[in-house]
Amino acid sequence: MAKIIGITSSQDEKNVLTLGKMYIKAIENAGGIPLVLPVIHDNVNLIEEMIGQVDGILLSGGVDVDPLLFDEEPVPGLGRIDPERDVFELELARLALNKDKPILGICRGCQVLNVAAGGTIIQDIPSFCGDDKFFKHQQSAPRWHVTHTVDLIEHNRLAEIFGTTLLTVNSYHHQAVKQVADGFVATAHSRDGIIEAIEGVKSRYAVGVQWHPELLWEHHPHFTKIFKSLVDICQ
Ligand code: MN
Repeated sequence: MAKIIGITSSQDEKNVLTLGKMYIKAIENAGGIPLVLPVIHDNVNLIEEMIGQVDGILLSGGVDVDPLLFDEEPVPGLGRIDPERDVFELELARLALNKDKPILGICRGCQVLNVAAGGTIIQDIPSFCGDDKFFKHQQSAPRWHVTHTVDLIEHNRLAEIFGTTLLTVNSYHHQAVKQVADGFVATAHSRDGIIEAIEGVKSRYAVGVQWHPELLWEHHPHFTKIFKSLVDICQ
């Protein structure tokens, strides 16, 4: 029986939910049943019920995480935040970690996973240490095009999933993991030192990647492996 992967969604200022269809197609292509989760921020019991209905979680990309949630004041380079989505996704991620339910975070989802577990994030890469110190992580190239190199640390899950320690990836982020949460390790970096992936050490499956594999797999089929790894671990 195919497993259900709950995928979190974004909402705009008019309370319209949105989710890129490529997340849905990626899970479908990996043999899972994609189920879009709405933002529920004011009913913790419902979030717990919701998580009971899915076999795994995919935290999708989106706007910035509120820095007050990891005890930092906002810097001028901080982008739009969505307090309701923060509450929902942090609770969802904490529940998934507590219940050891498989969870994959993509871009913002990687940051949410880290904050949920007690880590911090760089609010704005260019202003964190100067534009010239870091690569362009906000690519202007087509979304399926890979623009920078990522080195994976061997013997971790991510290197095992891809069967390599070297990837080239796309990049659509101005935030990144800063202090890795307790119980997690950084398992991939770009060559300017930015953390590009984290993994829960003791979790059955808790992986966050900073790039967008859902936009890559059609052009670069090896990125299917990360979605398959999530679906397969739920079996
Ligand atoms: Mn990047």
